[in-house]
Amino acid sequence: MREYGFELALCAALESDERVVSRQLGASIHGRRIIDTVVLEPGPGFDQRTTITDRTIPDRLIEADVGVGQARDWRRVFPDLRPERARSRIDRGVEIGFFERERRGGTLRVRQTARYPGAWFDRLVGIENKPDLDRPGELQRQLRQDVALGLFDEVILATASYVTGAHRNRIPDPVGIWRFDPERNEREVIREPTPLDPSAGGIDIIAERPGRTEIRTVDPEAKRRARRRLAERAYGKGWRPAELPACANCDPDDDSRDATVPYCTYHDRIVEPAAECGPECPGHGSAEPPAFDRMTERAEHSAWVRDPKGHQRRQAGLDRFG
Ligand code: SF4
Repeated sequence: MREYGFELALCAALESDERVVSRQLGASIHGRRIIDTVVLEPGPGFDQRTTITDRTIPDRLIEADVGVGQARDWRRVFPDLRPERARSRIDRGVEIGFFERERRGGTLRVRQTARYPGAWFDRLVGIENKPDLDRPGELQRQLRQDVALGLFDEVILATASYVTGAHRNRIPDPVGIWRFDPERNEREVIREPTPLDPSAGGIDIIAERPGRTEIRTVDPEAKRRARRRLAERAYGKGWRPAELPACANCDPDDDSRDATVPYCTYHDRIVEPAAECGPECPGHGSAEPPAFDRMTERAEHSAWVRDPKGHQRRQAGLDRFG
């Protein structure tokens, strides 16, 4: 079982209209760590968040010196930046629907389209996928890193392997273990996770070498912001591939899942288009990619809201305002 297909099958199985599922997101603050799957569970401000934009709102826009009530001279929104950089950030905020512009007294002003809600997500669950535990790679180190930092409320290892006592002993205690069968779409909880404490400080493991571990301590405020960044990326990104392979052997309908995945009838499994598809594949047969609207599908299957209405969106660039 290849990891990509396992991961897509698990994402499809976890998705529901009460959560948002995403994949391959940065989960470190100072170091490098990409977590395979993130499950975001909505908090009380979720509906408010969905009305603003369906994209990721970058931290630098959320923290900009501008609010909802009073429009601010655009030059004071990012006072530390050069004008071109400030303009481009404001343009980005307008493009995604988080900022809007108005001209007053000959001055271009900027405001937020809506209040950014504080508690819009409740729990973040991080899942590392390792279908074959006999080829663990860096699994132990990655899970140690996740537990030490405590960015997630829970961390889970998902595998297709039979989990032996020896495997369990190598997995850090707080990490839950799922056994997932991607063909039958069945998930068995082998061990429940122990909740972590995202509101406390943590340790970011930057590098581990024999006899030497490089770490940085992280205070609760830095973690709070890192969680918000992660939640924003999860909300904006999702897990579906950008497109399906342009190959006659890609047939998503051959797969029993509700979600559209790049199922290959030649290999009889989900394939990773970017890594496996193309003229050099022996089964490749040139064709139009299967029709697939991932945004519509995502909106139908998850708590994510596509293209919310009600706010001024995609105004012209600042240049238009002179
Ligand atoms: S290019 Fe190869 S791997 Fe990709 S869908 Fe076609 S047959 Fe399958």
